[in-house]
Amino acid sequence: MTKLIDPFARPISYLRVSVTDRCDFRCTYCMAEHMQFLPKKDLLTLEELDRLCSTFIRLGVEKLRITGGEPLVRRDIMTFFRTISRHLETGALKELTLTTNGSQLARFASELAAIGIRRVNVSLDTLDAAKFQAITRWGRLPQVLEGVEAAKKAGLRVKINTVALKGFNEEELFPLLDWCAAEDHDLTFIEVMPMGEMGEEMRLDQYWPLKDLRARLAERYTLTELSERTGGPARYVRVEETGQKIGFITPLTHNFCESCNRVRVTCTGELFMCLGQEDNADLRAPLRAAADDAPLESAIRAAIARKPKGHDFDYSRQKVRGQVSRHMSHTGG
Ligand code: SAM
Ligand code: SF4
Repeated sequence: MTKLIDPFARPISYLRVSVTDRCDFRCTYCMAEHMQFLPKKDLLTLEELDRLCSTFIRLGVEKLRITGGEPLVRRDIMTFFRTISRHLETGALKELTLTTNGSQLARFASELAAIGIRRVNVSLDTLDAAKFQAITRWGRLPQVLEGVEAAKKAGLRVKINTVALKGFNEEELFPLLDWCAAEDHDLTFIEVMPMGEMGEEMRLDQYWPLKDLRARLAERYTLTELSERTGGPARYVRVEETGQKIGFITPLTHNFCESCNRVRVTCTGELFMCLGQEDNADLRAPLRAAADDAPLESAIRAAIARKPKGHDFDYSRQKVRGQVSRHMSHTGG
């Protein structure tokens, strides 16, 4: 079986799959309050998701991240996790992980740990309950903190993902850092991205460049650049005073494209070869066309042959160029 390698000799070893576009939160930078969700019949079934992921694993994917929407609100999602974890047992899959808002972790953490998940990413932008409610609209901070606690108790390594939002969580920088140090959670900051049709005014207003955030950190702490690379848009520093490793995800820069090892599949089976570009391939039709995986496999190979060299965001003008019209909850963050 020839593994997936794109035209720029990058092996495709990392797949992110969105398993639902639905969510129990309505984060302002991610969704409109009254979202029009996709008809259920358009979503891949759990069996289709399994076939899809298993095919990618056969073709060389070693790391699978499940995301959404909120993956843990998809009905019966634990059945999917239990079944797909067979690839961890065979060793074909090196890591199975998920990105979650944490609201359902108290229910599911121990089972996730039991099937072989080692790490979870939990999105959390503030430790202030009122602000948390304002930014997530429908979320409740205590429920998420309980989920994070349950994950830690179950032995899962927690990485907190914080979207840097100007005028919103600038003051949260040090409280978040201190909390993560005390709880031994990793922490990564994400630069806000121009996703969805949320209005570019608001987006530019919220934009807090991570280089500014980093400079703020450096006023108080000694930061040492780490050489660690994940093939994605994350860079890491060590905070010498606390020993913490802090990540910075700047999706709008091009400087990680050359090592890009990843592709994404939406909950409707569209394969996006690059986060910043619209080109995609429909994998749902080949999945539904035949019971065997041959058409799916050729559709995947044809798409990977078109993976572009780099992406196309541009914040440098007042108008957001290269704005991607789909929502993060659709593509999967
Ligand atoms: N619901 C889960 C969660 O919130 O972690 C998984 C899906 S969510 C779309 C994945 C990540 O994307 C979250 O960390 C979220 O903060 C981030 N995200 C959503 N919209 C974003 C945007 N416009 N810019 C940057 N990050 C965004
Ligand atoms: Fe839901 Fe995650 Fe989007 Fe927030 S960021 S609305 S939790 S999908």
